Amino acid sequence: MSAAPVHRYLGADGARDPYTPFVGCCAATVEHYDLDLDYDVEDNGLEARAVLTCRALRDTDRIELDLTELAVTDARVGGGGLGGLLGPRKVGVQHRGSRLVLTLPRPVAAGESFVLTVAYEGYPESLDGPWGEIGWAELDDGVLVAGQPTGSSTWFPCVDHPSHRATYRVSVHADADYEVVVHGELESVAERDGERHWVYTSRVPLPPYLATVQIGPYRRSELTGSRVPQYLVCSKKRQKKAEKTFAEQGRMLEAFTEWFGPYPFPSYTVVVVDESLEDPFECFACSVFGKNQLGTDWEEQRLVAHELAHQWFGNSLVLASWQDIWLNEGFASYAEWVWSEASGDKPARWHAEKAHRTLSRMRQDLLIGDPGQVRLFDDVVYVRGALTVHALREALGEEAFRGMLRGWVAAHRDGWVSTAGFREHLRSWAPPQRWAELDGLLDAWLLRPELPALPAPARR
Ligand SMILES: [Zn+2]
Repeated sequence: MSAAPVHRYLGADGARDPYTPFVGCCAATVEHYDLDLDYDVEDNGLEARAVLTCRALRDTDRIELDLTELAVTDARVGGGGLGGLLGPRKVGVQHRGSRLVLTLPRPVAAGESFVLTVAYEGYPESLDGPWGEIGWAELDDGVLVAGQPTGSSTWFPCVDHPSHRATYRVSVHADADYEVVVHGELESVAERDGERHWVYTSRVPLPPYLATVQIGPYRRSELTGSRVPQYLVCSKKRQKKAEKTFAEQGRMLEAFTEWFGPYPFPSYTVVVVDESLEDPFECFACSVFGKNQLGTDWEEQRLVAHELAHQWFGNSLVLASWQDIWLNEGFASYAEWVWSEASGDKPARWHAEKAHRTLSRMRQDLLIGDPGQVRLFDDVVYVRGALTVHALREALGEEAFRGMLRGWVAAHRDGWVSTAGFREHLRSWAPPQRWAELDGLLDAWLLRPELPALPAPARR
């Protein structure tokens, strides 16, 4: 794993991500979340316990976590000599807005491990903000959780920034009529007294925003076409259309494996909810689509490719700071064109020229290398991000570009990425006399508003 950016972005200097300054913790990080959720689908009531294995980043007796709306009923600390004779000791709790401030019975030293246990309950709700509604959302019949970028505090106490990654064990008790999907691998499911108890684990550390819970009157089936196990979770009435929609996904997985390297996780699950969504979205080893996003036309198939590609770009290679969002969205959007080309449809160059014409007619006022908090998910970040990747393909030539791309993924698998790191990486794929040109290319596409011309096709 590449070096933890926790120290750089949220560390001893107290600096927070300027895009999301209201979340995170400078004093400690969470290395493992063990969540026990007892959920009543009918009234959206949640009773839960979170056991957080933490490590202090500096000497402190105060830990800040993100937790919105839900009421803390008990909080204790143990482990590392912090417990008392009778087990974990109570900690002081102050809960203001979405900040949960816990005061430990004695200070912990930098590097020291300890375990926080937080019991909480309530009726989780989504958060409304600059990025629309995020977090836990009650559906007509079930639940959807879309954590990006700071929605995870709506369902568990966490350090809600991608520079803090942790492993997970999540257990969910819910009515037996419902299927429950959580990020990670399904370890067990048992039924008793009309309830089902689901246990999921993730051994690959992930940022809180990629953690998810999806609950609905769904059923689970297996998709074919790849060596990677793929699951489809949807209601019976959508099964046929969903199967058609994801029929090519196995081939996509194989094509992306060739382009980007091995699929990073043990399996991939797609969930189709019974409601319309503005956009599908990615979670850890999972993606969620609305009923309105099913179909076999290019407009739907490109979304299938896009969300799948996020498993490499965003979920395995995680952003160290939100400013570099183009490294997620630009590459996932470029993967749509890669799939078009790999499936024998139009080449990436065709899509790039079309996208370039579209952007050239729009106002050019966004720096995709620093889009700002409000325009973090602006369409321009996606399209111009993909064009940036294509411009690099033309500049490097086919062989070097593909090597560079695979090398980028391999070097940062399960690690963090940044634009600065990407610049460094690019240099290793070009002779020193071309470094200034490549730097200039990135500056023009990422850090200046005017749309650069698309480079001429490289000689193949
Ligand atoms: Zn995306």
